[in-house]
Amino acid sequence: MTVRVCDRGSGRDYVGVTIRTITISDRCAQCDGPRGVDTIRNHNFHEDGDWLSVDTWKNPCGHVDMYSAVLAEARKRAELLELHEWDELLFGGFYCMYCTPGDADDPEQNVYWPCPPLRSAGVTDEEAVALITAERAAIEAEHRAKAEGGAV
Ligand SMILES: [Zn+2]
Ligand SMILES: [Zn+2]
Repeated sequence: MTVRVCDRGSGRDYVGVTIRTITISDRCAQCDGPRGVDTIRNHNFHEDGDWLSVDTWKNPCGHVDMYSAVLAEARKRAELLELHEWDELLFGGFYCMYCTPGDADDPEQNVYWPCPPLRSAGVTDEEAVALITAERAAIEAEHRAKAEGGAV
């Protein structure tokens, strides 16, 4: 799920507040039960002379998500996604370039993407499709910019 949370830095000193939009698992980090995705509500608050908005939610299991913990979870997840890159198979489908052995010539050895480590970080099929679509759009935009730059 994608939510807006407060980031107050990692030290003890007051550094103000930054609102970050992060993606975390739909499942509770403590018990793996579902997070309260359908309870996500906007919450406005006033700080340093500005009105700010974040998301709040209530997990049905009763575990409370702390902002510092979900920020760490989102960071770990982003690192995992960077490490476990996808590539497209000739005959369709996607495999993980990190989990699939480099010398895999047997199609049986392909580890499909999202691979088990990404799955356990809560990457769903739906999110996987969204990530692939976004990455392709970015690549396409880059090609287009290059082509246009070359024409001038
Ligand atoms: Zn829980
Ligand atoms: Zn992988």
